[in-house]
Amino acid sequence: MTQVALGMPATPPVTLADRRKTRQLQVGPVGVGSDHPVSVQSMTTTVTADVNATLQQIAELTAAGCDIVRVACPSADDAEALPAIARKSKIPVIADIHFQPKYVFAAIEAGCAAVRVNPGNIKKFDDKVGEIARAAKDHGTPIRIGVNAGSLDARLMRKYGKATPEALAESALWEASLFAEHDFHELKISVKHNDPVVMIRAYEILAEQCDYPLHLGVTEAGPAFQGTVKSAVAFGALLRQGIGDTIRVSLSAPPVEEVKVGAQILQSLNLRPRKLEIVSCPSCGRAQVDVYKLADEVTAGLEGMEVPLRVAVMGCVVNGPGEAREADLGVASGNGKGQIFVKGEVVKTVPESKIVETLIEEALSLAETMDEQAGGSVTVVTG
Ligand code: SF4
Repeated sequence: MTQVALGMPATPPVTLADRRKTRQLQVGPVGVGSDHPVSVQSMTTTVTADVNATLQQIAELTAAGCDIVRVACPSADDAEALPAIARKSKIPVIADIHFQPKYVFAAIEAGCAAVRVNPGNIKKFDDKVGEIARAAKDHGTPIRIGVNAGSLDARLMRKYGKATPEALAESALWEASLFAEHDFHELKISVKHNDPVVMIRAYEILAEQCDYPLHLGVTEAGPAFQGTVKSAVAFGALLRQGIGDTIRVSLSAPPVEEVKVGAQILQSLNLRPRKLEIVSCPSCGRAQVDVYKLADEVTAGLEGMEVPLRVAVMGCVVNGPGEAREADLGVASGNGKGQIFVKGEVVKTVPESKIVETLIEEALSLAETMDEQAGGSVTVVTG
């Protein structure tokens, strides 16, 4: 068998910026703040009161790489379900509270790892901050102040006329100051807007004016394609400045898709260890093979692989051998054949019809070697 050097690189991966220094807090076992990796969140779409369905969806999100999950709590039935969900979930559960302050206390009592409050739509929220701070402190429960453009505090709307970056940041900082008056600092903040430009500026203002950890989100980002692009550019612009401690991609799509996009954004910026990466060319008039089909088949064959393997799928010999050599594993196609590269060396040449199965075989073999080198801690599961 070919001897290859595998495993995680000896030097830490390069990132674009140092993280902005923040306070640290614990959302259950997940640390949030500059001393901890940027975490990925999502939110369930089930009726929270349906405990089994909610736990099932949380399990799917966990398998997809979600670190923290949020559940809505619009009714008394949902509040009653929180203790069971918080206890049985494998990842920390945050209760998301709008309108009804009594559910803030129910969620804290239920053992939720944190509570998200929206000061803009909880009646007389400012009067209740002291009581919330006391309950949260007693239970060690952090609070997220989650300001949204669509439900901005009426006072700020009157002052600014619309949800400007300044209005969003001022609303969040005002609420944080009320908690601080009660000596409560276990806070993280989000200021979401559907326009990435407004959202980016709002977070930049927050980052200049406080040291609380920040939860990034473009709210109502839209269907999967648009929401993915909006979130990627907005998070990228902020993470490039070291701003952002936990992220949630909001898509009009199943929440597992949000987690995949969030994880991929972090992996792309070296803020989360990379897993399987398919490097495939866009194809062009020189292609001597159906690159799209080949890339799709290789991606499907290796789906679920957890090892940081880079697989290059290239359509011809112009850039093919170069890219294939740079990857852990690759193919450069041409003349009805595929040259298979492993760690820069051509290990075999196979007919076009055998390219996919050969790449999958070689990938599994490399993954097993990596698994042995990692002491069996790497999961190799393919679908
Ligand atoms: S590798 Fe070949 S086929 Fe693919 S885009 Fe480049 S030149 Fe075109």
